[in-house]
Amino acid sequence: MHPQKNDLDSIADVTVIGAGPAGTAMAAFLHRARHGVRVLEATSFPRFVIGESLLPHCMDVLESAGLLEAVKARGYMVKPGALFLRGNERCGFTFGEQHTRGWGWTWQVPRADFDQTLSNEVERLGVPIHWKTSVTAASFDGTPTLEVRDASGARHSVRSRFVVDASGYGRVLPKLLGLDRPSDLPTRMSLFTHVRGDRRPAGDEEGRIWICVHPRGAWIWIIPFSNGLTSVGAVSTPDFFDGFTGSPEEKLRAILASEPSAAARLAGVSFEMDVQTLRGYSASVSQLSGPGYCLVGNATEFLDPVFSSGVTLALESSQRAAGLVSRTLRGDKVDWATDYDAYMASGIDVFRTFVTRWYDGTLGEIFFGPRQDPQIRAQICSVLGGYVWDASNPLVREHARKVPQLARIARDAHA
Ligand SMILES: Cc1cc2nc3c(=O)[nH]c(=O)nc-3n(C[C@H](O)[C@H](O)[C@H](O)COP(=O)(O)OP(=O)(O)OC[C@H]3O[C@@H](n4cnc5c(N)ncnc54)[C@H](O)[C@@H]3O)c2cc1C
Repeated sequence: MHPQKNDLDSIADVTVIGAGPAGTAMAAFLHRARHGVRVLEATSFPRFVIGESLLPHCMDVLESAGLLEAVKARGYMVKPGALFLRGNERCGFTFGEQHTRGWGWTWQVPRADFDQTLSNEVERLGVPIHWKTSVTAASFDGTPTLEVRDASGARHSVRSRFVVDASGYGRVLPKLLGLDRPSDLPTRMSLFTHVRGDRRPAGDEEGRIWICVHPRGAWIWIIPFSNGLTSVGAVSTPDFFDGFTGSPEEKLRAILASEPSAAARLAGVSFEMDVQTLRGYSASVSQLSGPGYCLVGNATEFLDPVFSSGVTLALESSQRAAGLVSRTLRGDKVDWATDYDAYMASGIDVFRTFVTRWYDGTLGEIFFGPRQDPQIRAQICSVLGGYVWDASNPLVREHARKVPQLARIARDAHA
């Protein structure tokens, strides 16, 4: 059934909670499959959210969802790859040199604009988005029903044949259904802001993300936008930040000034928004789906920002789940545990190995090692591009074994 704008009372095929990238991609896929879908979004856009550096695999999903052209029209900064910096050492990856045949570039996106672009496009296609409308309770006994407060404060019981939770950091169904599980990663935190006036490298190098290793056990991201602003943030365990005094802005300024590459690039920048603090953002769930619902994007598991995997995993989960929702609505028997939960886990686990091996120093040994085999570099580059389901890549197939093995080879070559 196709719900109309401002109609929360009819039964839709699918109600999507949240209009971030996971929610709008899901809505676009389901709409293209001719299902009646509505989106409920607690805020009104544009709204700030962190998560600004995309990976090439995002382009595949945006294209399949029919959303790529709308994003292209925004003229975002082209991101050709990533540069890791540690003291005087450099390790650059260029997405054009990947093992996987996929997109060779992507974008750096100010999320307020990116998310609004996706939601505008989904509304233009005919999907109603109910702004300032929050989900407060859920029941899956019988017809899936969400209790909702709309923009005027009125309450509704919103019924649908299926519910997709794309509420990101809101984690609506994980909280309401008791699915939340602690992450197996340690608690980390981040301070970040947007700045103006950074000294960018020229030409093709301008759009690369910089990941600078701080000498005292943190890393700093530098993400340049085409609007002249640059996103800057630092990530570490809370005790690292306790070692700096003052306001969040004073702490972030001191952290940037004490890492030579960031200091050289960012000296004299103006901070264009209040410094934001996020802590303990890694999260997990006991299951990604149940009778009448599934979770996509950050409402599922969020690992860590270091390899910019969040939006890619959000989009991939929506594409994968949308096909299964469609089959479920048609009455097919769907094995969600295998075809969704296990599928997503296999890709997320590749990033989990990379994240864990980044923080224990193993990846640093490979990235900054003396000799780099071009084939291995291409395999690493494909993981960094988000192609973590490409089983032809040995680093995807055997990530847990291969990454420490590569570090040993790098160590031996160094000895
Ligand atoms: C420090 C940090 C840096 C990061 N950097 C990157 C990066 O460079 N690249 C990257 O890809 N990812 C990054 N991420 C991850 C990224 O932020 C998320 O993965 C991404 O935003 C997930 O998208 P989503 O659509 O699942 O959720 P969101 O973008 O969070 O969207 C969820 C939407 O649901 C709405 N909502 C919430 N509760 C309710 C409710 N009760 N009712 C209705 N609506 C509701 C919210 O208002 C929101 O608009 C970073 C994360 C952190 C913590």
